[in-house]
Amino acid sequence: MTSNNQQKALLLLRQALNNSTAEFRDGQWEAIEAITEYQSRLLVVQRTGWGKSFVYFLATRLLRDKGKGITLLISPLLALMRNQISAAERIGISAQTINSSNKEEKEEIENNLMAGKVDILLITPETLANEKFQENILLPDEEITDYFIHTAFPPEAHNQAVLAALNEAEDGLSVPMLEEKLNLTNGQINKVLKLLSIETPSPVKKIKSKYYATPINYQTGTEKIAKLTQIRYQEQARMRDYMEIQECLMQFLRKELDDPNPHPCGKCAICLGKPIFSENVSSKFVIKAVNFLRSSEQIIEPRKKWPKDGLSTYNFNGKISEDLRAEVGRSLSLWNDAGWGKLVKKGKYTDNHLTILAID
Ligand SMILES: [Zn+2]
Repeated sequence: MTSNNQQKALLLLRQALNNSTAEFRDGQWEAIEAITEYQSRLLVVQRTGWGKSFVYFLATRLLRDKGKGITLLISPLLALMRNQISAAERIGISAQTINSSNKEEKEEIENNLMAGKVDILLITPETLANEKFQENILLPDEEITDYFIHTAFPPEAHNQAVLAALNEAEDGLSVPMLEEKLNLTNGQINKVLKLLSIETPSPVKKIKSKYYATPINYQTGTEKIAKLTQIRYQEQARMRDYMEIQECLMQFLRKELDDPNPHPCGKCAICLGKPIFSENVSSKFVIKAVNFLRSSEQIIEPRKKWPKDGLSTYNFNGKISEDLRAEVGRSLSLWNDAGWGKLVKKGKYTDNHLTILAID
């Protein structure tokens, strides 16, 4: 029996494809139904060209029509999705993209998001990385994940400092204005504002670039935070399990995603009983790779502007003139990388001094 929603989805599909006789492919409607009717977590594995994007778009349309929030789509292949985005627009979905090529528009897109003008936001994994989530998801490095778990929520003192400043302000404060008033970094302030903004009801409200205090008396939900932190630690433990597990890796993932019928895939390293890629690497290549890392450098751009009112006694404001500007710096390693990173880490935390390196 076809439900009303299925009928509606089919009409939308035809509209999106500009084809009045199009039908769903096997599994497309079932996937949309699982999300829109049963709020399931769902894993769809399909070849390129099967029409996964229609699943996202139609599910988004149906959920938006029910008054639900926006869809976040993370894909490494956004550039290849242009055609699909115009298909989405044909069914009245406002799709916006944030990637490395349109950083300037980011603020405008953020404003549209806040104003509820976006239905689906497409971002690349790199963008997600910029938001500092990358380490949590892609690099199961204990120290890094521990750090992010611990600092995911701002300390209560930061929340209260920001709220007190906003309550005192006559006409709201922007982030740079908060920076001037508080002994907190830009990152710390943004974290507080992000957390407070998603509270319902929220004690802050953003209008253009300024934040205002609302009449809500905010109390941090310490229980909620403890619970979320607990979940993060459980997830971290499951990632560790995944790396050491001796059962089919796909079966493990499917169980994690609540698949009622997980079974061995027959294709992964565990099922095959041997690594998929050879683990033997010639030492020649290792040395070459380490040398490459050791001689590659990251540029450190010097500050171009004085901190606003930061050095007012000296009358330093606005642009730093060329003659006072620092030169471009170089960083020889990234934290814990395979070049100099390990040595730097050991110097900082074990030896308490940094070994002087002779660099050609
Ligand atoms: Zn397997």
